[in-house]
Amino acid sequence: DTIGDNLDRTAAARPDAEALVDRTRGERFTWAEFVAEVDALALGLLDAGVAKGDRVGIWAPNCSPWTLLQYATAKIGAILVNINPAYRTHELAFVLDQAGISLLVAARSFKTSDYAAMIDEVRPERAALQRVVIIDSDEWHGLFVRGGDVARVREVSATLSPDDAINIQYTSGTTGFPKGATLSHHNILNNGYFVGQLIGYTDADRVCIPVPFYHCFGMVMGNLACTSSGATMVIPAPGFDPTSTLEAVAAERCTSLYGVPTMFIAELGLDDFESYDLTSLRTGIMAGSPCPIEVMKQVVERMGMSEVAISYGMTETSPVSTQTRRDDSLDRRVSTVGRTMPHLESKIVDPETGLTVPRGTPGELCTRGYSVMLGYWEQADKTAEVIDRARWMHTGDLGVMDDEGYINITGRIKDMVIRGGENIYPREIEEFLYTHPDIVDAQVIGVPDERYGEELMAWVRLKPGAGSLTTEAVREFASGRLAHYKIPRYVHVVDEFPMTVTGKVRKVQMREEAVELLG
Ligand code: ATP
Ligand code: MG
Repeated sequence: DTIGDNLDRTAAARPDAEALVDRTRGERFTWAEFVAEVDALALGLLDAGVAKGDRVGIWAPNCSPWTLLQYATAKIGAILVNINPAYRTHELAFVLDQAGISLLVAARSFKTSDYAAMIDEVRPERAALQRVVIIDSDEWHGLFVRGGDVARVREVSATLSPDDAINIQYTSGTTGFPKGATLSHHNILNNGYFVGQLIGYTDADRVCIPVPFYHCFGMVMGNLACTSSGATMVIPAPGFDPTSTLEAVAAERCTSLYGVPTMFIAELGLDDFESYDLTSLRTGIMAGSPCPIEVMKQVVERMGMSEVAISYGMTETSPVSTQTRRDDSLDRRVSTVGRTMPHLESKIVDPETGLTVPRGTPGELCTRGYSVMLGYWEQADKTAEVIDRARWMHTGDLGVMDDEGYINITGRIKDMVIRGGENIYPREIEEFLYTHPDIVDAQVIGVPDERYGEELMAWVRLKPGAGSLTTEAVREFASGRLAHYKIPRYVHVVDEFPMTVTGKVRKVQMREEAVELLG
């Protein structure tokens, strides 16, 4: 199936059920209405001369037009290029050039970003960018050809292959400059389908999606999991905001809620948390970065998400490689990233030799199967660095697999700290720091040290009203509980961590700032 075929099938089976709710725009679509809008937009794109393989950029926070464009481009085989809502002119220009975008659809503005002005600034030098359409402008409305000849869309759809490239998604840029993962219908449709299947989505489910569509967490694990199962997509707000998220769950009676750990921490930390009716929640997904056990437990106990899952993956693998199952024990669901997804393979290798290590031994996690991207867009050299000749994707993440196939992510190869010859996984120290009564969030990095090569530095965020916390106090708390070499030498109290828009902590930036701090 292509994404378009799959959507049509879902919609035909339940035309009058609710497909999409955009709370900010005050819009609701049944499946029949949703498909009619997608087809109208697909026709408009065809009329505008958009052909199979053309790159169509989308630069907007979460909103219904984003979703409509996602499916309209898929129906006609145009390649959707997701552009990070946090970008500024320099990065926008980079993506426009790198992906060769000919049509750009953009919001007029978002928060302090005047997208229209930024586009005007970079546009004169870009001949390849033939057309820019601002969402909600007359031109945007003109792109919808309602009551037109939908057979034309079907004719084009019938020529598409599930293995065609359909989407370019840039990685989060946690470890360096983002790379454009090129993904096919087959890659992302199957991944979305299996994510939904493992959670047990039916058309009775209503999924609250505060994670960005620009990232695979939103557009695949959110939108595609819903459109392949008939569950309703609920957009709480354009950007993440804990209040509007919980309001949406309560008002829309959502059964499932998504987030990266920092989002759940923000929601649980709201002063008026107890006032939201979250009794409809059954499940949800926490993913994207290490999911602290403490936070998972609170999500189960205080938010009532008794079936909550953890997923692990990366943009390059569509994204999900492993996920916990509904019937996994609670302990496994909060403390591992689950087992390999159906029809995919995982192995753990010694990063030096490339040989598979025995169960229980840490090494680099590798993924193989339908979800592995076609490659990085026009960067064959970079693709060859991560996908080997046997089609294994080398994730750059450190993991351990137990005898039953449950995987634990212990860190990123690039984040591992080597102090006096001891390999230390910051993740382990972070989990420990979460158990401190005054600490709400903790991140650990390695900083250069003359004596040991590297020393550990912890950045911590304190609970409101916790006052202050000294390095000595933390070291004392850790002493006797952690091996001496794992006790952070430095503790730095902060209000915020440097973050990517996908909610990941930018440790690269933390290390740079730490070096300055230590002078
Ligand atoms: P870049 O590749 O540009 O440096 P990135 O790797 O953060 O950025 P993504 O593809 O968005 O970009 O994120 C994938 C990474 O997120 C994984 O490689 C892994 O390090 C981390 N990750 C995802 N899910 C989990 C999880 N459940 N537990 C731990 N880490 C996770
Ligand atoms: Mg990555």
